[in-house]
Amino acid sequence: MAAAKESTDLNANIPDYEYADVNTKAFHIGSFRNEWLKRLKPSSYSYEREDEDTFDANFAKDMGISAETMADLKSVCSVDSLRCHPEDQTPDPDVVPEDPTLKTLIQRKKKQDHKASLKLTKNRHSLYADELERLTFGREPDAVTDIIPEGEVILTINVYYPAIIDKFSYIRPHMTLLMTGSHSLAELRDAICCVSDLQVCGEFSSTPDMAPDFISKDHFKSAFFFFEGVFYNDMRFPECQDISMTTIEWAKARNFPPYSQSKMEDTRFADLTVKVGFPYLYCHQGDCEHLVIITDVRLAHKNDCLDKKLYPLLTHKHRVITKKCTVCHVFIGRWLTTNDPFAPSDPCLFCDKCFRMLHYDAEGIKLGDFLAYPYVDPGAFN
Ligand SMILES: [Zn+2]
Ligand SMILES: [Zn+2]
Repeated sequence: MAAAKESTDLNANIPDYEYADVNTKAFHIGSFRNEWLKRLKPSSYSYEREDEDTFDANFAKDMGISAETMADLKSVCSVDSLRCHPEDQTPDPDVVPEDPTLKTLIQRKKKQDHKASLKLTKNRHSLYADELERLTFGREPDAVTDIIPEGEVILTINVYYPAIIDKFSYIRPHMTLLMTGSHSLAELRDAICCVSDLQVCGEFSSTPDMAPDFISKDHFKSAFFFFEGVFYNDMRFPECQDISMTTIEWAKARNFPPYSQSKMEDTRFADLTVKVGFPYLYCHQGDCEHLVIITDVRLAHKNDCLDKKLYPLLTHKHRVITKKCTVCHVFIGRWLTTNDPFAPSDPCLFCDKCFRMLHYDAEGIKLGDFLAYPYVDPGAFN
């Protein structure tokens, strides 16, 4: 009986699908890590690099093949034999040859032709986005103390747009972050950049210089994550409030299953019980709600970025098209005006320069009657 009980408990820490290919059942991240460490040989998750001969010998042994077969396979499968050009030519890797037969090249050509037809040029943002993951591949820290310990878990976390932007909500992740089991939820919160944290509320047409001094993040610090029936509140600052209380009491009054609360700064990922692939919630600024999905939990590998200081590690960031000033069409919009006799539309978006040139005299005196609101472009984080 005791043994049977123990084996069910054990299995509860090994992720299993709740819905096939969608999400797992809930499991405890720290215990899952311990299950791996119990089963693996330390050499399996060690960062130590085996020399090539030892690797080949072990590989041949694992596959049950002779050393000769191993050598043959190595030369046949070598990258050098992956060629679609004569041996004595060095092709330009950026140019896809006409009529390629290799499937990968066909796909690449399709993509290139599509881009060319749209006249899309690669700007510095998209160049950088492609680089994000490669830049940190196998990166080792300068100081030994900054290395991610062997056997640490790494989580892949997708944070989605709040539902206020219709176009891409629920479709693609806003950002993808890698975090370790010893990171706290507060560290995840600090790594999420959302435009509503930068929003400045109020009408400032009479005192435009006052506007940038207020940003929402400094004023409204309360926020929570919601994972598996628990609200993890940010309580790091004296101004923080437990904004989950309203929901908890509402649910209690209506006989919903009970919810509990905890502090995000005291909760490490390794302490969490979660479902991989399941949508959870991050809420800040009162009602800015983001879906958060943990898509992977695994042990750190020697090819991972091993520099602790670079975590939370951003591996993907969706780029938003920025809205430009109605007048110059060059700079990003900073001011939104209404009831504005100088504006071609209502509301109208201006960059800071055009806004001031058009609406104030040389002494900074407001000209005419209009309302002006500071505007933060959702593309501000590109
Ligand atoms: Zn937000
Ligand atoms: Zn402008």
